[in-house]
Amino acid sequence: MELMSESNPDAEARAPGSGQTAHVITWGCQMNVYDSGRMADVLAGVGYAPAAGPESADVVVLNTCHIRDRATEKLFSELGRLRLLQQERAASGRRMILAVAGCVAQAEGAEIRARAPFVDIVLGPQTYHRLPEMIARAATPGADGVIEIDFPAEDKFDHLPVPAAPPGVVAFLTVQEGCDKFCSFCVVPYTRGAEASRPARAVLAEAARLVSLGAREIALLGQNVNAWHGAGPDGSAWTLARLIRALAEIPGLARIRYTTSHPRDMAPDLIDAHRDVPALLPFLHLPVQSGADRMLAAMNRKHTADDFRRIVDRLRAARPDIALSSDFIVGHPGETEADFQATLALVREIGFAQAYSFKYSPRPGTPAAERAQVPESDKDARLQALQALLRDQQRGFNAGCVGRTLPVLITAAGRHPGQIAGRSPYLQPVHMQGSTTLIGSVLDVHITAAHPNSLAAEIGRQRAGPLAA
Ligand code: SF4
Repeated sequence: MELMSESNPDAEARAPGSGQTAHVITWGCQMNVYDSGRMADVLAGVGYAPAAGPESADVVVLNTCHIRDRATEKLFSELGRLRLLQQERAASGRRMILAVAGCVAQAEGAEIRARAPFVDIVLGPQTYHRLPEMIARAATPGADGVIEIDFPAEDKFDHLPVPAAPPGVVAFLTVQEGCDKFCSFCVVPYTRGAEASRPARAVLAEAARLVSLGAREIALLGQNVNAWHGAGPDGSAWTLARLIRALAEIPGLARIRYTTSHPRDMAPDLIDAHRDVPALLPFLHLPVQSGADRMLAAMNRKHTADDFRRIVDRLRAARPDIALSSDFIVGHPGETEADFQATLALVREIGFAQAYSFKYSPRPGTPAAERAQVPESDKDARLQALQALLRDQQRGFNAGCVGRTLPVLITAAGRHPGQIAGRSPYLQPVHMQGSTTLIGSVLDVHITAAHPNSLAAEIGRQRAGPLAA
């Protein structure tokens, strides 16, 4: 997420934000992308124009991710770079307020200020609606840095301004945050807090607004999105399935998806929604992490490999064309070769259209970080073997699409002249010749070729036209 505009030399003489510029750097998942967008909205709401880059920004926000390996080292390396820019600006008589946001900020707030005292603000994912107030405090002469990493009682979504920019053809909508599952390897319960669901009324209103601005597909986001629950507009208890059914009634909304789900929360009514709601894409990212019950227990996943198999069977019975994606961790503490073979066996049995796989790496403060670690060489060998199998499955799935007609949402101009790009119902990138006036349409296209990560197509009959202006 980059906010772009010019800097202002006498920024500090004005009211906070007025005539100043801001730049948000985003690392990590789609939820971070969404959060960065909302932080940009908050800053725009108090007068910050987008800056071309950190070099010209009065405020720089680095929105961090703690999921991947060496997140903390990566942060301090980037902060070293930003520190130089901050010094250059100071030498020319201007100040750059530097804020670190996101999950690393939440987990390592005090350490960040101790190791990088030039960081003006450290804020967690639940407090970014207060960013202008924090900037004002940090800009006060003599201020000694601001740390806001609490989990406030107020709902930040109630305090966010309506976004100024149109959402694009595919819009992300956070409906749920946090997690109560406490998997042994994961920091999310510590950085994002307990599971919390946004009210149905707020979600429906935001979705309707996104569609009115041109969104054709909405991706519902949450760390544990299928744990979403809340009171419907009529006061009755709603599940994610009920919410999806209500969203599907918004005129002009062509496609709905949700991510990321936990197998424990794949309720029967959500599986039924895959059968009954045509707008719900026949594609599901459902992390399993391991195929060995021993490891699933060690990971505190609270489901078995057979539970996962049963869910997949029910999904395929409900929606025979559904394709699956998943997450895998190899080399979690305690994993033996036999455990790993059980993972390979599960992958062969289920068959995934795509998947993400990682070597286990310890996250400070999580239970698995304290346990005896699997040798790195074993992790490397297992990851290679798993990724080779998953790559084969992805290639096979893509090849199986050739000759089929698929409804593709056209999302953008392609990289080559006359080319347009879109996404299949299985989220594969699809490229074809066509006019950019088709952006926003769902077209039946004939798939002509498959590549490892994308498809080529020719346009056939149009299925649903673009939204009226
Ligand atoms: S369910 Fe997902 S978000 Fe929650 S602790 Fe486990 S891996 Fe982390």
